[in-house]
Amino acid sequence: MQRIFFLLSFFVSVSALAQPAQNLILVTLDGVRWQEIFNGADSTLLFDPVYSRDTASARKQFWAATPTERRKLFMPFLWNTIGQQGQLYGNRQQGSRINVSNPHWFSYPGYNEILSGYADDRIKSNDKIDNPNVTVLEFLNQQPGYAGKVAVFSSWDVIEAAVNEKRSGIPASSANEASQPVTGADSLLSDMTTLYPREFGDGVRADFLTYFSARQYIKEKQPRVLFLSFDETDDLAHAGRYLDHLRMVQSIDRYLADLWQMIQRMPQYAGKTSIVITTDHGRGHTPKARWKDHGTKTVDSYQIWMAAMGPGIRATGEQGSGPVLFQNQIAATLARLLGFTFTSDHPVGPPIDTIGSDKR
Ligand SMILES: [Zn+2]
Repeated sequence: MQRIFFLLSFFVSVSALAQPAQNLILVTLDGVRWQEIFNGADSTLLFDPVYSRDTASARKQFWAATPTERRKLFMPFLWNTIGQQGQLYGNRQQGSRINVSNPHWFSYPGYNEILSGYADDRIKSNDKIDNPNVTVLEFLNQQPGYAGKVAVFSSWDVIEAAVNEKRSGIPASSANEASQPVTGADSLLSDMTTLYPREFGDGVRADFLTYFSARQYIKEKQPRVLFLSFDETDDLAHAGRYLDHLRMVQSIDRYLADLWQMIQRMPQYAGKTSIVITTDHGRGHTPKARWKDHGTKTVDSYQIWMAAMGPGIRATGEQGSGPVLFQNQIAATLARLLGFTFTSDHPVGPPIDTIGSDKR
């Protein structure tokens, strides 16, 4: 009996991997540190009135005695769902490391590296310049069954250039671009996008509008590949608003819980969709070590994290020590989750061998 059970469970786990995902959702949270992902709120920032305008409510909302309690309080979907059913990389205290390989440690070089699998010397500013590299999204959009089924929703307008909307033909809704309404809900979203108070200028759309616009698109068009790119987390950190930064990350955790629940009720997605969540760069360790910032002057801001869940991803939870992983491996990993090998004119980092393969 014991042996039969063992063979059966072995068969089930192998066949789950043999069947790649049919759909993929890539999510990025700009400039969110691994420190908060794995430890929850950081006391050096949370209880400093310069960074946290209301330390009493900050304590109530985000503080608990242990890092494990704090991180669950901070991101319940990440820890209660992905932590149980998926994988999390980047807790350096456990020996799991993932780094950017580009030498800049800021946004566009990071997004290019995530999307093209290549730290390209030509991408060395945040200027909105069309990406010369073919991204994994453009590659997937050329595969049978995926043409016209790839979509991008971003809060930051430079993402349109990072995915080279013009060349790739992938629709990229970004910043405060009003959409062409089809339904009443579209029309409301379009009006809200035009009229809401903009906190971070015209180049940034509020993350909640990015989320609801993407959600509406999923309901209407059912893309097979979606890149959902949030931004306000980084703007709030640069502004030194730690409490607001945490609240924004927590809101995004709620959006992801809502998204996951919704797609599990849709036949196209239920049980056939993998999700990968990551960030473009890290930030400094403490207020004095430039927490507000990132880039080469900010120690260790090359350190990132990644979470993944869905078909092809074993439920091994938080990862321990292993080889150092790099941001340039994410693109090929995304392709492999859908059963493809991502190749391009430029060099591409190898897929992470514990995702979408039989290795653990
Ligand atoms: Zn930044």
